[in-house]
Amino acid sequence: MQIDGEKIEGLIKDGGAALSQSPAILEKAAEARGLSLEDAAALLSIEDPALVQALYKTAGEVKEKIFGKRVVLFAPLYLSNYCTNGCLYCGFRSANREVERTALTPQDAVREARVLEKMGFKRVLLVTGEDPRWGLDYVISCVKAIYGDTGMRIVHVNGPPMDVPEFRELKASGVGVYQSFQETYHRPTYEKMHPAGRKRDYQYRLDVMDRAVTAGFDDVGIGALLGLYDYRFDCLSTIAHSQHLFREFGAHAHTISIPRLRPAPTGLDGAPRTVTDEEIKKAVAVYRLSVPSAGVVVSTREPAQLRSFLIRAGASQLSAASRTSPGGYAGNGDALEQFSTNDKRTLHQVLSCVAEEGLLPSLCTTCYRVGRVGHDFTEKTMAGEMSKFCQANAILTLKEYSLDQRGNGAALETVDKTIAASIDEVNDPAIKKALLEKLEELEKGKRDLFF
Ligand code: SAM
Ligand code: SF4
Repeated sequence: MQIDGEKIEGLIKDGGAALSQSPAILEKAAEARGLSLEDAAALLSIEDPALVQALYKTAGEVKEKIFGKRVVLFAPLYLSNYCTNGCLYCGFRSANREVERTALTPQDAVREARVLEKMGFKRVLLVTGEDPRWGLDYVISCVKAIYGDTGMRIVHVNGPPMDVPEFRELKASGVGVYQSFQETYHRPTYEKMHPAGRKRDYQYRLDVMDRAVTAGFDDVGIGALLGLYDYRFDCLSTIAHSQHLFREFGAHAHTISIPRLRPAPTGLDGAPRTVTDEEIKKAVAVYRLSVPSAGVVVSTREPAQLRSFLIRAGASQLSAASRTSPGGYAGNGDALEQFSTNDKRTLHQVLSCVAEEGLLPSLCTTCYRVGRVGHDFTEKTMAGEMSKFCQANAILTLKEYSLDQRGNGAALETVDKTIAASIDEVNDPAIKKALLEKLEELEKGKRDLFF
C-alpha cells in the first residue's frame, strides 16, 4: 500500500478549483456509488453555506439508502494500557510515568463485558496498548473468555498490527472486525508523532490491513486521528486506503472511524492542527459519499449534540457509555484513562436520543455471524440490498432491549414508539410477516432472532 503524498496535496489545492463542479458532484454522489478522490477533494473544499447544507443532506440520504434509518451502538472495552510505543498524543505512551498501568485478566474482561451486557450491549470492541507481554495469546484468551462466559454476540479488536500468521490466529478465535488507525497518512508528521517503539515504522502500519485481509479478516476498520495534520490530507488518504482494499481484495473498509484528538496526559501541547466541528461534519459526509458501504463510526470523543447532527449527515455507528481505562466499567477510576471522553451519556440516554431524532437504534450483530462480510457485504450494500435486513434486525434487537430493560425501571416509551413506527415502515410483505412472528417469539422469551 502506498500513499502518494504529492498527489493528495495536489488534489487539495485543485479541490478549490473544482468547486464550481460541486453541485454536479453532489448529484453523482446521491446515486450512492462512491466518488473519486478528485470529487472527494472538491467536496471537502465547499464553503458556500447552501452547498455545505446540500452536502450534509446528500450524505444523510445516502446513509439511509444504504443502511436505512438504523444507527448501530457499541462500546469499547479496554484490556491493557501497557505500551512500549511513544505516540506523542496518547496517555498510554511508554514515557508517561504518571499513568497507572494495568492489564485485565480474562476473568476481569468477562466482568467488564457483563457490565456492558447488562446495559444492553451485544457487541464490544476490545482495545489494547502494544506490549509483547500482553500480546496475541493474551488478547485471544480474553476474546475466548468473553465468548465463553458472557452473552456478547460479537467481539471486535482494535489492537497492535501483526504479521499474517498472528492475524490468522486472532481471526480463528472468532473476532469479527480488526480495526487499526493509521493516525496520520502524512509520513513526515507520522514520523514526528511516533518517535519510539514498533509503531515508528510507517510502512508496517500502512500495510496492516493488507496483512489482516490476507490472513482472513474479511472486515477491517480504518481511520485517521484527526488533529495531527491537515484533516483534508488524512480524509483523502483514508478514502484512498479503502479504494486500495477494494481494488486488491474486492471489499472496501468495513468501517471508517473519525477519531479527533482529545485532551490526554500527552507529550503534545494541544492539537498540532485544530479540526473544527464544521470540518468533522464535512469529513463524515465526504466519507459517506466516497465509500457508501462503510460504517462511518463516531465515538464518544465527540460531544452529544454534534453526534446527533452527524447521524443525520452520514454517520452510521456510535459508541456509547465508553470508558477508556482498563476496568473502567466495573469500577476503576479515571487514573488509567487513555484520553478523556466528551459524551458521557449512558447507553439508554444515547439510544433514546437516537430514537427521538426519528432514527432507529440498533444492537444488531448479524452480518458477521451469517457470513455477510467482506466482498459480499460491500456488494450487497452497494446494490441497496442491506437496508431491509438492517431495519428488521434493528427492530428485533431494540425489542429485546425493551423487554430486557423493562425490569430496570428504564423509561421505554420512546423506544417502544420507535419500534411500532419502524414496523409500519417495513415495505417488504414477506419480511414484515416474518418480523411480526419473530417479535412474538421474543415476547415469549426467545432471544437472538435475526434475518
Ligand atoms: N494501541 C493500539 C494502536 O495504537 O493502534 C490500539 C489502541 S489505541 C488505544 C486506539 C486509538 O486511540 C489510537 O489508534 C489513536 O487513534 C487513538 N488515540 C490515542 N490517543 C488519543 C487522544 N489523545 N485522543 C483521541 N484519540 C486518541
Ligand atoms: Fe500505545 Fe496505541 Fe497509545 Fe500509541 S496509541 S501509545 S500504540 S496505546
